[in-house]
Amino acid sequence: MNNKEAYNIAINELEIIEKEYNELKKDEKVRRYNQLKFRRDILIADKNDFYKRYKNEEYNNCKHLLITTYAKPSRLDKSKVVTYCGCLKCGLNEKVLNVNGWFIDYDQLSLDEQIMFDFLSNKPLKKENVTDIECDLELARAIYNKIMEAHPKISDKKAIKYLGIALDNIRNIDMTNERKESRVKRLGLRKDFNDWQKDDVMN
Ligand SMILES: [Zn+2]
Repeated sequence: MNNKEAYNIAINELEIIEKEYNELKKDEKVRRYNQLKFRRDILIADKNDFYKRYKNEEYNNCKHLLITTYAKPSRLDKSKVVTYCGCLKCGLNEKVLNVNGWFIDYDQLSLDEQIMFDFLSNKPLKKENVTDIECDLELARAIYNKIMEAHPKISDKKAIKYLGIALDNIRNIDMTNERKESRVKRLGLRKDFNDWQKDDVMN
């Protein structure tokens, strides 16, 4: 089929559906649907835009408390270790820059990951005061948040000390799946959180 034929076929089909389309547009419900859809699309865009702005403010204003969130041998050069940092307070995680050690497909990232990716690409974390904690950030933050709930006025230094002790306990005590599950529940982690192997709590 050449382009002119394809063009004519499209015109014909458009003529056919146009009639039904115009008929439906007269229906009150369909009109309302179109109004709502229009407004909904605007609100979703606004919501995402404001979310992005306030997350950026949060990241900018945070006095980061950094841990190492990712430390694995480089895929390209096994003698090197690739490390990334993340913040216990605001949740900024460099891991998003190179999740699997491969090229990132930006469109595959979630909205949160895209916001982090953009922020970190423009403003890399300063690695001046990275604590010696090495752990999956979600797990570390869940424990950190519990510590802060119990001791709201605690210093960063003390919070890190408590976090280190809690992680040591996880590393050193063999856990049944049942115990893992109950801990996941207690810490408010998502149900499918699976980073509960000893190896994942690195140090
Ligand atoms: Zn932070």
